[in-house]
Amino acid sequence: MELTQYSAYELSTMVGKGDIYPVDIAAAYLKRIAALDKNIHAFVHCDPEAVLKKAEKIKTGRLRGVPIAIKDNFCVKGQPTTCGSKILKDFRPPYNATVIEKLEQEGAIILGKVNMDEFAFGSSCETSAYGPTHNPWDITRAPGGSSGGSAAAVAARFAPWALGSDTGGSIRQPASLCGVVGLKPTYGRVSRYGLIAFASSLDQIGPLTLDVRDAALLSSVISGYDPKDSTSVNIPVPDYLQLLGENVKGLKIGIPKEYFITGIEDGVKNAVMQAIEVFRKLGAQIEEINLPHTEYAVATYYIVAPSEASSNLARFDGVQYGLRVTKGEKVSDSGLIDMYMKTRGEGFGQEALRRIILGTYSLSSGYYDAYYLKALKVRTKIGEDFKKAFARVDCIMTPTSPTGAFKLGERTDDPLAMYLSDIFTISANLAGIPALSIPCGFTPENLPVGLQILGKPFDEQTLFNAAHAYQQSTNWHRRKPAMAQK
Ligand code: GLN
Repeated sequence: MELTQYSAYELSTMVGKGDIYPVDIAAAYLKRIAALDKNIHAFVHCDPEAVLKKAEKIKTGRLRGVPIAIKDNFCVKGQPTTCGSKILKDFRPPYNATVIEKLEQEGAIILGKVNMDEFAFGSSCETSAYGPTHNPWDITRAPGGSSGGSAAAVAARFAPWALGSDTGGSIRQPASLCGVVGLKPTYGRVSRYGLIAFASSLDQIGPLTLDVRDAALLSSVISGYDPKDSTSVNIPVPDYLQLLGENVKGLKIGIPKEYFITGIEDGVKNAVMQAIEVFRKLGAQIEEINLPHTEYAVATYYIVAPSEASSNLARFDGVQYGLRVTKGEKVSDSGLIDMYMKTRGEGFGQEALRRIILGTYSLSSGYYDAYYLKALKVRTKIGEDFKKAFARVDCIMTPTSPTGAFKLGERTDDPLAMYLSDIFTISANLAGIPALSIPCGFTPENLPVGLQILGKPFDEQTLFNAAHAYQQSTNWHRRKPAMAQK
């Protein structure tokens, strides 16, 4: 079997036994990327020589020689880090994100940087200044977003796994649309030091993988307290992989009726209902629950997230790093304000500008109480819904996305239609709870469907165990797109 067909766990085991060498793994993936990524455009940066050199040197670590693709909003020392934006076109960070340090300590090999919506604003990878990524299941369709490059890279077997970030669904929705596993951990579980911020009260880093076992392994490696990120929480990290169980007898699963609404595709609904039946047969107890504030989640998110984004993006002003547009004049001649305006006007794409305007508006005096403050109050209500639900059930199951992968270009002219792609994923970010998406079937067009499992804060283990049990008795996660059959 080609090395690119194994899971990360399998690769690490084979390296551990001395059956294969890290450099052979790296070479196999690089060859595949060189041959096939022109059709997918998952990678925005990959330096094969540097990767091979690193792989030759690597000697120790739990993930020794296992390659990983990194979303382009993580700082990787000396490598281009563009966030999918023109404004960071030539930016190379002088330091590593904490998660990159942790991966390198374990011997993982950074294969390169993968595409994303600009500053993670989007659900299709189409707002990237570097062109869209294509879905490996059907290249006329979007891979989802914003971690579309990460999901497509894993589905296409360009990397055994990838890191993404999730502010309103950006790991889970592309995982669902590309037929891979994606986890948004609990807020505070993973350090975001070195992740370029979108909305600081919502952002979390998480894995995109081929199966749940790999998601458990990667989560154990990247999680934990970090003094460099004051929002990271000092709670011990379980060895998720070691503790991976597969018994769901008596597990109480809540099904919120607010998530089975009109607008959800029949193919998605059917696959999710069948997945829930699998859990019932495995001995879980299925209960209907209510999350009454669900209908306000999208509106709340599109006030909170752009507000924080408008503030976080203020640092891109052409002064310290990234693009500077002066039209030939010296800054002192044309004036600082003029330079800011030209740089930001040219450096940011349409969606980024829209978010900055929306956010600045809802934070302005006179509008703050009516929009931002009100959104925070509704956010609290959404959190309370989950608290009440989790007093009765151990986890909650829903579809991850209301539809399968949509056509490239289909939603680009309609921001609202694009925003609604995340209708089922946003609440977990607002509430700070962990949520996992796993493949659970296909639509009649042969597009993957994802099942979302939401859990109590810091109870990722229950999600892994339930999902692992499911993967032990089903084969959906083993299906591959035609381009990845070999
Ligand atoms: N699609 C959502 C947005 O555009 C979520 C993005 C994300 O999670 N980064 O904001």
